[in-house]
This record gives sequence, structure tokens and C-alpha cells, in this order.
Amino acid sequence: MILLKDCFYVLPSGAPGPSADARARGGGEAAGAGAKGGAGGGPDGLRGADILIEGNRITRIGKSLAAPAGAKVIDASRHVVMPGLVNTHHHFYQTLTRNLAAVQDAKLFDWLVYLYEVWKGLDEEAVHWSSRLAMAELLKTGCTLSSDHHYLYPRGFKDDLPGLQFAAAGELGLRFVPTRGSMSRSKKDGGLPPDSTVQDEDRILAECESTIQKYHDPRPDAMRKVALAPCSPFSVSERSMRDSAGLARRYGVRLHTHLAETADEDEFCISMYGRRPLRLMEDCGFVGPDVWYAHGIHFNDEELDTLARTGTGVAHCPSSNMRLGSGIARVREMIDRGVSVGLGVDGSASNDSSDMLGEARQALLLQRVRYGSAGITAREVLGIATEGGARMLGYEKLGRIEEGWLADIALFDVMKLEYAGSLSDPAAALLFCGYDHGADHVIVDGKLAVESRRLVGADEEELRMNADRVSRRLLEKAGVPR
Ligand SMILES: [Zn+2]
Repeated sequence: MILLKDCFYVLPSGAPGPSADARARGGGEAAGAGAKGGAGGGPDGLRGADILIEGNRITRIGKSLAAPAGAKVIDASRHVVMPGLVNTHHHFYQTLTRNLAAVQDAKLFDWLVYLYEVWKGLDEEAVHWSSRLAMAELLKTGCTLSSDHHYLYPRGFKDDLPGLQFAAAGELGLRFVPTRGSMSRSKKDGGLPPDSTVQDEDRILAECESTIQKYHDPRPDAMRKVALAPCSPFSVSERSMRDSAGLARRYGVRLHTHLAETADEDEFCISMYGRRPLRLMEDCGFVGPDVWYAHGIHFNDEELDTLARTGTGVAHCPSSNMRLGSGIARVREMIDRGVSVGLGVDGSASNDSSDMLGEARQALLLQRVRYGSAGITAREVLGIATEGGARMLGYEKLGRIEEGWLADIALFDVMKLEYAGSLSDPAAALLFCGYDHGADHVIVDGKLAVESRRLVGADEEELRMNADRVSRRLLEKAGVPR
């Protein structure tokens, strides 16, 4: 049991909510009545409220709640208290190969071809430490639920890879929805990855099925779910896409892939399949409310309408898109059409960090480069980054501070120099201001995963040293100059 006492400011929900008119009608009394309904732009939060967490749920929100016997009381009088951030796209293993000089200025396909030669050396120890490192960064920047897209299964990798990742998530206390990725099209078939990193289609299907059977928990408050994720149209066969969709539907799990990330991908798909990427996905049954794509930059108008019509979601990854010069996703137009959008940091070789709050700031700023100063509001970004992502990963009552919802909560201290002068709208201050994106406390499923800025489930220095050591070993094995 945890009682968050005297919260300076509670953001109930960042989801795009009622219009300005509706807000003006509602206004007024904040704390005490719970946080019903969506929240629009502007200072909509509760001030001075207490939040009681029992088990894995938020059970009461109100003023001056008495602490039940045995409850841990946290003074939140310096904090913005908000739903935990949700990361909908990542490649944890890339934490060990970030910032490599040779591809700092490369675009996607060249970047991939170089890095595959390093990644083909990925082993059990590398997965063990890179998963912990990515999860640690995510948690420390306010993330409570994350996906991971692991698609690289080098020959010689013997251990149960998803099992290694679930063990890490269990230790660190992160709610985790990895996607069992796959690649079947290597260089010899006109793809980009080396032959030793891909698997044949039957094996992919069998391993996807056993991963679902072993780890997927369909319950609404699951700490573990599994989705299936062929890597991209240019690294798997059409058959593999189609089979993955069929298997996912048989088990009721979600589907994910990279799509419409670059203009090169459009060209590849037209020459390889005679179709644009989204048409290929439609032909494979790889669209629908149980599907979300990473990036989605190069969709045309008709394709955006298809996403809206089919309920297919997009994981927006602004830092990676800027870093690789891939383009600016049309998030404003997606929201206006009713396309569901989540936020993702993407892999750490193209971000090159897992700074979740920082990613939300990037999303706020990047849309304005494309659409002008009203391109996207802070509330819309916070909504995408919380409830939007949670829905995309299959959670209904997650992503709001509301009675009965899952207790996944981040607390950011705003009584700091960098927020002084900004507190007329404390939630938006987290995006417009600040330079240290670390959360003070992070609660996942009703338990503290970060307390007083430190991970509860790992020794941070041991983690840093081991990740660095394994990264060095990986780069040496590949002959990367240092
Ligand atoms: Zn990616």
C-alpha cells in the first residue's frame, strides 16, 4: 500500500480531451472528486490531492486521506504526479552499439548494413546486460510500460532470448510487452542482414508460437504480454508476414513491424513486391486494431485514411527519425483522422538513449517544425505518451490517474531551478522546460521501481560497468576501431 501525500500537481490524463468550451463549462473544483473524464489543454490537474494505491490499483484520490495502517507514505508536495510513460518501440540490444563513429551520419539502409556486422556477434550476456540497461534508463525517465522489438537471433545463440528479457523486467519491475521479432530475408535473398542472423520461416513460426505459449499473459493487468513482429518488409518474406499475422490472430496477441520509415523502403517494396509497404501489409492481413507500426513517416493521404479505417496504430519515434534524417511523421494529421498514436524511443543505436520524458519533448517540438506552433499541444503529447501507448499495447485501464486504474505512476520533482517560473502549468513544464529528465519515484503495478531517483531492483554502478564491458567485447569481436 502506498499513499502519495499532498501532490503538488496531479495530471489525471493527458489524452486529448474535451474542447476548450467543454473545459470552461467543467472547470473548478479539482481534488476530492477523483479525476473523471479526459483533460484538454491547460492547467487541468488536481492540486494538493492525495492518491491511495492498494494492490496494483489506484483506489482513492482525494484531499486529506488518512494513511491506512502499514501504508508507505510518500511526500509528493514537490512533484508532478502523472501516469507512467509508455514506450511502444525499442531495440534494447542496441544500447551496446550506440554512437558508433562510422555510422553517426549514415541513413537507415547504410546504417543497418554496417551495424548488422556488429550485431551478428550478439550473445546471451549481451542480451542480459543490454536489456537491463535499456529498462533502467526507461524507468529512470518515468517509463512504466515498455515494448521491445528483438528480431535478431544469431546462429549459435542457445538460450531462451525472451526468457532473458522477462527475467530482467521482473528484476527491475518494469511492465513488459516484448515483440518476438524475426528476419528471414538475408543478403543472399536480396535483403540487408548477414545470412547468420536470419532464421527460416518454419523455425520463426515455431519459436513465435512457443514464446506466446510460455510467456503471454492475456489478463488486463498482466506484467508480461507477447506480440509478434517480423522486422520489416525488407527483411522478411511475404509468407512470413502473412503467417505471423495468422498465428497472432489464433492466439489473440498483437502484431508489430517497422513500416513507412524511409523513402528507400518505398522503393524497395515497389521493386520487390510491386506494391507500396502498406498495400503489402493489407494483402498479408497485417492491419487492424491489434496492429501497430513503428515510424509511419511516409504514408500518403489515402494510407492515413486506411490506418484510421482499420484502427491500425503508429509508434512515433521522433528522435530516431531526426537522427537518421528519415523525415517527420504526420502525427497531427493522424490524430485529426483518429489514428491511434503512441510514442517510442526506438533502438539505442538511432536515438541514442532511452530517455522517455526527453522523447515526449522531441515529439512536441518536431510536429511544430512541420505544422507550425500549434502543431501539437503538450496535453496531446502527454496523452500519446501514456494512455495512447497503453491502448496500443493492449491495456484498457492503464495510462490515467483515476480510481480503479492500474497504479503505474511517475513523480517528477518540479521544485528545481530549471522549472522555476514555469509552474502556472506544471504538467506542460515537464515538456517545455527542464534538462534533467530523471523521475524521483516511479511506481509500476503498485510497487516502487525507482525510489529517490535510484533503481530499486538493480545496482546502477554494477549495471553500467557490465554494459560497458560487454559493449567493448562486442565491438572488439567485430573489429570496430576505438
Ligand atoms: Zn526500430
